[in-house]
Amino acid sequence: MLSPALAGNALRTNQFTATTASDAALWQKQARQKLFELMMGGAKPARLPLDAKILQRIESPTNRYVMEQLSLQSLPDRRVHAWLAVPKQPTGKVGGVLALHGHGGTGSQVVRGESLYGYGRALAEMAYLVISPDIGQHELQHTNWTLMGERTWDALRCLDYLETRPEVDLARLAVAGLSLGGETTMYVAAMDERIQAACSSGWLTTIANMKKGHCPCWNFPGLEANFDFSDVFACIAPRLLVLEVGEKERAPGGFPVDIARGAFAEIRSAYRVFGAETNAILDVHPGGHVFHGELFWPPLQQKIGAARRAAVNPSAPDTEPPKPSLK
Ligand SMILES: [Zn+2]
Repeated sequence: MLSPALAGNALRTNQFTATTASDAALWQKQARQKLFELMMGGAKPARLPLDAKILQRIESPTNRYVMEQLSLQSLPDRRVHAWLAVPKQPTGKVGGVLALHGHGGTGSQVVRGESLYGYGRALAEMAYLVISPDIGQHELQHTNWTLMGERTWDALRCLDYLETRPEVDLARLAVAGLSLGGETTMYVAAMDERIQAACSSGWLTTIANMKKGHCPCWNFPGLEANFDFSDVFACIAPRLLVLEVGEKERAPGGFPVDIARGAFAEIRSAYRVFGAETNAILDVHPGGHVFHGELFWPPLQQKIGAARRAAVNPSAPDTEPPKPSLK
């Protein structure tokens, strides 16, 4: 008899099973297309002119970067609101990082390093050009889309915007996020090959586990018939991927470490097909639902360069957040 987990797996018609790098790359291409179809109204949307409007510019808390508030055209009838952290006096082109918040957070909190989002400020202090959109919460604008589709498309449009900034080296793009931001990080890195490095924190789990009491905004028709999250992560191989899970995770529906380890074994097998196992890193840290960074900053800096070394610890490792940001 199949265990419940394996019974769930049996439903995945697009499970990653490739055994050669060329088959894996072909599978990834088809999986990306399927994700766009399922999440974004049937097909990958057209990229409209961004019509970027800078709304204000202000100093960062440490005077080391400037924060710009801006608005971008995401779809013909939708704009995305975001914040940038722009390094002062960079010595050359810099890496660009999309930094994503969790449930109830804002892009403003990320670039300031407030609440659970110290990593936004940490990245800005490392002199990356950071962009952080307000990820949609629970209001779906287009009824033939999905919430994760609208959230992910808005984030991808922020990468399009980084392409217009002369400060950014387009070969050096990364994404990082906690919780809902870790989930959106998974989709952004899976679906957009411009991303060279990703850190998905407080998110690694299975669909079966997410059904145990978590708010259902992760789900959409066709997802579990095709994929589990490990398959979506497999689209990122062989690029750098760091996955963080806290031993004290308490979010409802939870992100138990044993389930994360099982999902990671599947992801690592996809990296193995590319001969790139060391590019997939699991960080089981002693904290709760927080961004850790410790195993992400060094390979990130190696991959996309850094004008300054990591100096800010985004969270004390044994600090519980005031409340779980995924609810
Ligand atoms: Zn939700």
